[in-house]
Amino acid sequence: MIKQVQNGNQPIVGRLAPSPTGALHLGNARSFLLAWLSVRSRNGRLIVRMEDLDHPKVKPWAATAALDDLRWLGLDWDAGPDTDASEYIQSNRRAIYGKYLEQLLDKGLVYPCVCSRNEIENVQSAPHREDQRLIYNGTCRGRFPNWDSATAMLPDGRLPVWRFKLEKQGRSCFVDAIRGECVADYQADIGDFALARDPLGAGYTLAHVVDDYLMGVTEVLRGDDLLEATHSHIVLQQALGFPTPQYVHVPLVVAEDGRRLAKRHGDTRIAMLREKGFTPRQVIGILAWWCGWAEFGEELMPEDLLARFDWASFIREQAVLTPQVKEYFKL
Ligand code: GLU
Repeated sequence: MIKQVQNGNQPIVGRLAPSPTGALHLGNARSFLLAWLSVRSRNGRLIVRMEDLDHPKVKPWAATAALDDLRWLGLDWDAGPDTDASEYIQSNRRAIYGKYLEQLLDKGLVYPCVCSRNEIENVQSAPHREDQRLIYNGTCRGRFPNWDSATAMLPDGRLPVWRFKLEKQGRSCFVDAIRGECVADYQADIGDFALARDPLGAGYTLAHVVDDYLMGVTEVLRGDDLLEATHSHIVLQQALGFPTPQYVHVPLVVAEDGRRLAKRHGDTRIAMLREKGFTPRQVIGILAWWCGWAEFGEELMPEDLLARFDWASFIREQAVLTPQVKEYFKL
């Protein structure tokens, strides 16, 4: 069992980690509200970290827009890109990730992989379901013994992906505050996972694990689409000698068809609701109703929810964009 950071005597440090790949919508706003409530209800420290390493998808306007939307909703933070851009914007921290990548390379725990997704799928022996994670077969393990991470690139200009050499046997186990005990088999369910497709290792997996450690984060609250990947994040923390924070994976907001919110389900962007004349109190009210902490249509600010915030009464099923919500916001 993974020993988790106990929050008993330790100050709580949480984070909001938006990816500026699009506008904030009702779904991610709900996760951010929950992260805010969880930290603020215990007088903890909250940081905002801009996770802008996903290059092709990053939009130049989206980082500023995300901060504006969060502020408009009534959320606040103690440090973030607005207080220190060099510290809280990941693209300014590439050299830091490079150092940790070097550490992993020195320990022989990381190797470059040039296999395409198709190649991995084709050699996977057992038939796999759509929803199953693709487990890497190790073709590139030991294949490029003298790879130089500073100049890592294939002759044709493509970048390899850095993979973690996972030799552990047995099961990974951690306790999530919402989902309880989460178990996965190292070899059957995790395998040699990808860290980043970047010469310095500046990609989501390595970068967020390094940053959560360096920024002293004790609680990681995020959408439960990342629940399974958490096992690989913990493997990485252990390899680097970092403690494991408390994980809290919250259900996503989905459309009536059970799918993640998308444009076809209506324009649920916070900026759009704001433009249509809705107030933060109305938006927070609906987010709180989804959690089980407000009547439908009740109007509230985040601080009004501090007294109601309680995981015991939190609705653990997915929040659904029902016709009633669509009607309320004229979607
Ligand atoms: N930046 C990630 C996202 O927006 C969040 C990842 C995390 O919280 O660890 O999906």
